[in-house]
Amino acid sequence: MTVVGAGPVGCVLAMLLAKRGHDVEMYEMRPDMRAESADGGRSINLVLTDRGLRALEMFGLREKVLEITVPVLGRMMHSVDGELAYQPYGKDDSECNYSVSRGELNKFLLDAAEEMGITIHFEKTCTGADFDTSQLHFEGSDPVDAGVIFGADGAPSAVRKALVEAGAVDDSVEMLEYGYKELIFPAADGGEPAMAGHALHIWPRGDHFLMGLANLDGSFTGTIYLPWKGEHGFEELDSVEKVRAFFEEFYPDAIPLLGEDFEEEYLSNPNGKLGTVRCKPWHLGDRALLIGDAAHGIVPFFGQGLNCGFEDCVVLDEVFTQTDDLAEAFSTFDTRRKPNSDAIADMALENFVEMRDKVGDPHFLLKKAVEHRLENEFTDIYRSRYAMVMYSYIPYSVAYSLGEVQQEILEELCADIERPEDADMEHARELIEQKLVPLYDQHDVDLSF
Ligand SMILES: Cc1cc2nc3c(=O)[nH]c(=O)nc-3n(C[C@H](O)[C@H](O)[C@H](O)COP(=O)(O)OP(=O)(O)OC[C@H]3O[C@@H](n4cnc5c(N)ncnc54)[C@H](O)[C@@H]3O)c2cc1C
Repeated sequence: MTVVGAGPVGCVLAMLLAKRGHDVEMYEMRPDMRAESADGGRSINLVLTDRGLRALEMFGLREKVLEITVPVLGRMMHSVDGELAYQPYGKDDSECNYSVSRGELNKFLLDAAEEMGITIHFEKTCTGADFDTSQLHFEGSDPVDAGVIFGADGAPSAVRKALVEAGAVDDSVEMLEYGYKELIFPAADGGEPAMAGHALHIWPRGDHFLMGLANLDGSFTGTIYLPWKGEHGFEELDSVEKVRAFFEEFYPDAIPLLGEDFEEEYLSNPNGKLGTVRCKPWHLGDRALLIGDAAHGIVPFFGQGLNCGFEDCVVLDEVFTQTDDLAEAFSTFDTRRKPNSDAIADMALENFVEMRDKVGDPHFLLKKAVEHRLENEFTDIYRSRYAMVMYSYIPYSVAYSLGEVQQEILEELCADIERPEDADMEHARELIEQKLVPLYDQHDVDLSF
């Protein structure tokens, strides 16, 4: 079996295939990042949650990978005038997210895959595939007999493109009018974090925002999200003076925390694109399967892209225990995962709109505060959609539909009030019992996570 793409999902997929006794070869277009940095030395990190960590549990690697993460216990919101507001994520510190360097995670998984006997061919860029002969094509080298082909080659997937060209798959790629750029917040002297170390720092500014996520060495990786065009867009911010003026106006408390020459860093770091990839089906008979971002690239505003890809691997492993017939397994996997990846794609886009348009909307903030009360007072029958996505294994599609009912309830409770303490909690309980509890039974939802 052949896996194209030795990113995090490709590595975990290859490991689960090897665990099931298959000979697995991987092809990766980048050089081996353990020998040379693939990202020019930049530190790029992401958030892992329990949902994703479950994939590593399959190989007894959860605890080991946690050693290279920083627990993130809540959000620290930074207002323009420098005021800080901390919101814990979960009901207690056990409900946390884990910040990890993508590079370090990928290196860890490359080692783990090789230890399981998987051969990884680096600097092999897949350019296409012939699914009748099961051959993969690579830039500058002869085709390879691949057996079953797995496309784990990320959002721009060459394997998906080949499946589309073969008429087996339809895809769509919807680009966001926003992009992102990383900026480093260096550690303070002595390697201590220069801002609260166990929080995701967010500077919400409506049509643009900055985030900072902790690294193990005390630094934070900042990511600024900006529109491509317009007054606050990447196109406009093209000089040291403009960048400084922009940060002085919107992110004044971030300036002393950023590197001394942050304007130069801003101008020299690349801009990243953001988009949503959807496709259907994800497989061609028993010959090929797409997984991870190759099947469902999403925007990063729920911090779930990789977690979703890792969960793909858990589900595929479950499906393999039910049947030896590959075509049936791929079809079952596809049917189970597609509604869930669509749901998290939609929720990630909704979160983007929330961050962009609603952070200053009093009615939105009122609903959030009332929801906080519901979660605290009705712990056994109410968990927010955020908690269900981040801390449980409840399928994304179920969390999504429960979230819609939660919004109806919150709208009703907030219709005639201005302060969260005025919410009618007796009525709230009735609404939850009437509208949500039956759905828990219907979808087999367990809120005791
Ligand atoms: C700004 C940002 C923040 C994010 N934050 C989070 C977060 O907090 N939490 C989270 O869960 N997710 C997050 N994500 C999403 C996450 O990065 C992706 O979902 C994840 O990397 C997908 O893993 P993958 O292995 O499927 O694909 P990738 O990580 O894209 O890996 C694909 C691999 O395939 C290789 N490849 C590509 N094309 C070819 C080819 N033609 N031939 C051979 N090899 C090829 C690539 O070099 C790469 O190694 C974020 C994304 C962005 C952009």
